[in-house]
Amino acid sequence: VIEMGTPERSVITTCAYCGVGCSFKAELNGDQLVRMVPWKHGKANRGHSCVKGRFAYGYAAHKDRILKPMIREAITDPWQEVSWDEALRFAADRMRGLQEKHGRRSIGVITSSRCTNEETYLVQKLARGVFMNNNTDTCARVCHSPTGYGLGQTFGTSAGTQDFDSVEQTDVVIVIGANPTDGHPVFASRLKKRLRAGAKLIVIDPRRIDLVKSAHIEAAHHLALRPGTNVAVVTALAHVIVTEGLMDEAYIRERCDWDEFSDYAEFVSEARHSPEATEMLTGVPADDLRAAARLFATGGNGAIYYGLGVTEHSQGSTTVIGIANLAMLTGNVGRPGVGVNPLRGQNNVQGSCDMGSFPHELPGYRHVKNADVREIFERAWGVNIDPEPGLRIPNMLDAAVEGTFKGLYCQGEDILQSDPDTKHVASGLAAMECVIVHDLFLNETANYAHVFLPGSSFLEKDGTFTNAERRINRVRKVMAPRNGYADWEVTQLLAQAMGADWAYTHPSQIMDEIAATTPSFAGVTYDLLDAEGSVQWPCNEAHPVGTPLMHVDGFMRGKGRFIRTEYVATEERTGARFPLLLTTGRILSQYNVGAQTRRTENTVWHEADLLEIHPHDAEVRGITEGGWVKLASRSGETALRAHLTDKVSPGVVYTTFHHPDTQANVITTDYSDWATNCPEYKVTAVQVSLSNGP
Ligand code: SF4
Repeated sequence: VIEMGTPERSVITTCAYCGVGCSFKAELNGDQLVRMVPWKHGKANRGHSCVKGRFAYGYAAHKDRILKPMIREAITDPWQEVSWDEALRFAADRMRGLQEKHGRRSIGVITSSRCTNEETYLVQKLARGVFMNNNTDTCARVCHSPTGYGLGQTFGTSAGTQDFDSVEQTDVVIVIGANPTDGHPVFASRLKKRLRAGAKLIVIDPRRIDLVKSAHIEAAHHLALRPGTNVAVVTALAHVIVTEGLMDEAYIRERCDWDEFSDYAEFVSEARHSPEATEMLTGVPADDLRAAARLFATGGNGAIYYGLGVTEHSQGSTTVIGIANLAMLTGNVGRPGVGVNPLRGQNNVQGSCDMGSFPHELPGYRHVKNADVREIFERAWGVNIDPEPGLRIPNMLDAAVEGTFKGLYCQGEDILQSDPDTKHVASGLAAMECVIVHDLFLNETANYAHVFLPGSSFLEKDGTFTNAERRINRVRKVMAPRNGYADWEVTQLLAQAMGADWAYTHPSQIMDEIAATTPSFAGVTYDLLDAEGSVQWPCNEAHPVGTPLMHVDGFMRGKGRFIRTEYVATEERTGARFPLLLTTGRILSQYNVGAQTRRTENTVWHEADLLEIHPHDAEVRGITEGGWVKLASRSGETALRAHLTDKVSPGVVYTTFHHPDTQANVITTDYSDWATNCPEYKVTAVQVSLSNGP
């Protein structure tokens, strides 16, 4: 990154990487962005940032950006550059033709958690109001969909309960299935500050993450469980709390359904959930389970932070429910310093879920089967909305292979790289007759596309992102879109080409429509966001400047709901051929599949994905530090360099998934969460052996 003197002007906007949602001052000379300075008034970051938000914006100007629309008759044909009019006409005619031939439910959309709330709202509106079906899904399907289900069932709303500031009043922190130091660095700094001030830490993770080894943090409990056994550990913690009478009975009686609690208490009290029985399943010593449970129940304000190590399992939704149970059991929801906090991976995972991207929910998490809710949108949009829930991403791909799903508009998401079972994704895409990819780069999914619509970066548009604490932050246009149109404009042009009468001239009008149709956003306007800097939803008449803490006077659903959390072992089993368990994560300097971070000028960031393996497992295989190994599963195989470390236990290996060459999703299975189909990325039985390289 070259910094180029005193800037001529600056624009306040929001980082487009992780769910912390840091505010930045983008400084420019002319139309050239010269520096991103963390904004001291940003309520999520308070003047701090990490390396990605501060420096990794070079991709927006990268030569790989595709700036002209392209079409082709068949995916074996070469791409042909065309005008926007021609590309949109081609796409619209194909999609309409498919609907005439195969029915209105034969096409659909996939939205992106990278895009703004306004863009996401428009894409699901395209499906419901123009395609006339509910075939809309989001990349949150493969990350936090179990959060939506689990917190919705227990608390009544699918979001974190408290703001980041609240951590400063927390006494005991559980971090489960998350690595904030790498995944959410600015929040991790605040958490470490609180831990240095004396808060206690319980980490539940197969890997010894950085927080555990921090020299400043004493008495950290690390429950290094076998991958895939989160539910058993969380239930065992509840067992200790209930059988030792450590629960907050007054809170439960006042705030929760007592009958459901009684049933749950009976369930968790069974001997099969005792620490000793759980040790056999999970590998976590019984004494450690008991000590952690006592600490969480008696140590003061308790808060739970979790990530994809919770959700990306066949029992992801069950673990989210178990986490909510633990918080209610100990009276730890509804005041500062306590709560349940999903750490969202992408910048706008929260927002993409809020905006109705799921095939069964309209904006604001309201079911499409609810005629009263449909009527609100039918009046606003002037259409009749299909009352039948649509297809999830894996169902779209299945239906494509079966021949009933024919066309897809995919905005800002590379499903061939990021979704599980790459071969199946490729088969599904190849079977479709119109795939429209709308992205910055010619990504892997575009190999199967018939239309490529150039996307715009976060620097080139207005809108909002909603971070992990429900904070709606403004994204402001720093420069004109290099491709000619912001993403929301492209979606509108496609809708118009298909006959819609949409006529938005600025994203603020889209937000006004969201506010008019969605109670939790009823008070949100761009004027309010400009005045306040940001607000946390619900923002409405009752909470005119937003809601930092949820469930203060009662749960959104009324009484909090305890639900049994029966542990069911994943179908993915180790055995003689595949004796090790692979789990995955991220590194600080890279982001997801690396489409943005790998396209920066700073080559230091181009670290390869490594396979972490315990020295004992390495030694018996003759594997040495830095040597090539073959990583093989029942699904496929790839080659990586080995890193020997006792961060992972014997029997467990770990890698990141930032580089296309790693092909982590060639290895992973197609098992998924029972409630939401979120893929089980975090548990794969593998064999590791010496290799000569790729
Ligand atoms: Fe961006 Fe997240 Fe880093 Fe903040 S912590 S600068 S939001 S990547």
